[in-house]
Amino acid sequence: MQIPLVDLKAQYASIKDEIDAAIRAAVERAAFIGGPFVQRFEDAFARYCERPHAVGCGNGTDALRLAMEALGIGAGDEVIVPSHTFFASAEAVAQLGAVPVFADVEEGGFTLDPAAVAKLVTRRTRAVIPVHLYGHPCDMDAILEIARRHDLEVIEDCAQAHGARYKGRRTGTFGAAGCFSFYPAKNLGAFGDAGAVVTANPELARRVAALRDHGRSSKFDHERLGVNSRLDDLQAAVLCAKLPHLDAWNEARRRAAAEYDRLLADEPRVGVPAVRPATEPVYHLYVVRVPERDRVANALRDRQIGAGIHYPIPCHLQRPFAERTHAGLPRTERLAGEVLSLPLFPEIRPEEIRHVAETLRAVLSDLATNQELAVSAGDA
Ligand SMILES: *Cc1c(COP(=O)(O)O)cnc(C)c1O
Repeated sequence: MQIPLVDLKAQYASIKDEIDAAIRAAVERAAFIGGPFVQRFEDAFARYCERPHAVGCGNGTDALRLAMEALGIGAGDEVIVPSHTFFASAEAVAQLGAVPVFADVEEGGFTLDPAAVAKLVTRRTRAVIPVHLYGHPCDMDAILEIARRHDLEVIEDCAQAHGARYKGRRTGTFGAAGCFSFYPAKNLGAFGDAGAVVTANPELARRVAALRDHGRSSKFDHERLGVNSRLDDLQAAVLCAKLPHLDAWNEARRRAAAEYDRLLADEPRVGVPAVRPATEPVYHLYVVRVPERDRVANALRDRQIGAGIHYPIPCHLQRPFAERTHAGLPRTERLAGEVLSLPLFPEIRPEEIRHVAETLRAVLSDLATNQELAVSAGDA
């Protein structure tokens, strides 16, 4: 049985008619930039996120950068980010000339440790970026409390958390801005690159809208320097067609994750993901912790199972950031060697989940046996 890490074809097949109709409508309109689907999607996505404003843009990295720039963050400012995340969370900070200051993750978790954040605040700290990694909401109460105490902006990286909830509220509604990516494999994915910023602040929404479009406030009036990072009409049409299905897809992801949890609960060599109380995660990825991760991942791939690693090199050890001295990030560095993403997508079938779990158990037993053999051969 061959099981991919994600299966975008299965999703398209499940709603082909709706997607095809949306694409045809956008193509026939031929208003590819600034067409009607962009506004329609922005309105629908704002409603979905339970926030007054959503502003589309070219991708999730730009959503982060445009939100920070609109908040006035720039050269010399420090922004606290997790190191255990996709590179773009930190890259967006550096693109503005600001300095990403890397914080460790919580013990036993995947997201920012509020105590580590509090220790890193200096006079230059302007903002903190909680990343709701793999669809697990961060400890927002604690992070918001630190932000209030030190007058920091909170910019949420929701690129893996469309629709997740923390104490009943959608992620993306806690900070000044919630930044989303619609990269094809995300929980809500376009057919190319796309992103959005959601906010309750109309002036912030207006500034992001100007920045994404050459700093324009009207067709020929450029109030400032901006960039070209627009959401295009075709992507918006695809997103409009997909958005009504997002909650059901997230529910299917949670069901699949619960099934993995159940099948792996009694396997002592596998650490299944912990869920924070009072949160509704959306499992962008189902990530376990295993010993000898690289060997396990390769063994799964040899058996036609699409195992992933998110992420093998923490941001603070990536070359553009590695020259700066960083406080030790022991939990992050340990995680980078242990995390293993198992196949998970809304359409995955129960027998596929069972097969992945059984194969993972078999691989771990094989490795243990081989190790015992190697040890006893070494002793002889
Ligand atoms: C995907 C992702 C981004 C960047 O989004 P793009 O649309 O690829 O630019 C940022 N942060 C996280 C956590 C992501 O997963």
